[in-house]
Amino acid sequence: MCAKIFIFKYENAFSNKLFLKVIISFMSLISRVSEPITDLFRLVFPVYCENCGETLHKGEECLCSFCEYQLPQTHFHLQTDNPVETIFWGRIPVFAAATFLHYQKGEMVQQLIHQLKYHGKGHIGVYLGRLFGQQLMQSQRFNDVNVIIPVPLHWKKKKLRGYNQSEKIAEGLEKSMNAVKDTQSLLRVTHSSTQTKKTRYERWENVKSIFQLSPESSKLENQHVLLVDDVITTGSTIESCFLKLTEINGIRISIVSLACPSI
Ligand SMILES: [Zn+2]
Repeated sequence: MCAKIFIFKYENAFSNKLFLKVIISFMSLISRVSEPITDLFRLVFPVYCENCGETLHKGEECLCSFCEYQLPQTHFHLQTDNPVETIFWGRIPVFAAATFLHYQKGEMVQQLIHQLKYHGKGHIGVYLGRLFGQQLMQSQRFNDVNVIIPVPLHWKKKKLRGYNQSEKIAEGLEKSMNAVKDTQSLLRVTHSSTQTKKTRYERWENVKSIFQLSPESSKLENQHVLLVDDVITTGSTIESCFLKLTEINGIRISIVSLACPSI
């Protein structure tokens, strides 16, 4: 009886060991062949640089290394009183503001943002957001951001475009920052956004009808929030978001965009 139990246990242990060996061998085989499979996949379905059209190599995403190197970064995140912050002087008490890239008509940044907004290439926003997030983490003014809030798009516009481009940028920022993306606290309830020609008081009045806070916004109390837009021109839309968010106790708000054409 004892011998039988011993043999059974031994056989069981042996088969378990064998099973484990088979699994380990299989996993190592997969890890060894997955890279060539990915390479083969890329050979059959090449991915191209969104700027110059060259085939992307291993490790490259969205842009080739040359184009990524050519991105005209502003480095405003390292500079207090930078040109983006001056846009909001006398309007709203922004903690810190920055833009990732210089924007010039006909240049790479304009093309990339156009592809992001109007040609369904949301991955460009995620990619640039991730690069920008890495930069922001090097700044003491931005590296303690807890929550990332993309400027909300009206649901009708979002449905038409397929996604909110600012949400894509926020998705990329979230990948490289110690912060979470929040698309539930601040809601856009109306299409109207023509704030530019209004006086400060009229803007304040108008903002009440454009953006609303949801009950979930209570979790933003005492948080450092990063408001994200694709492009800041007059800053009036982001100002509206800012004004609504300041109704939350203890909130600290910073602002970023991918580019600023007015600078
Ligand atoms: Zn390129």
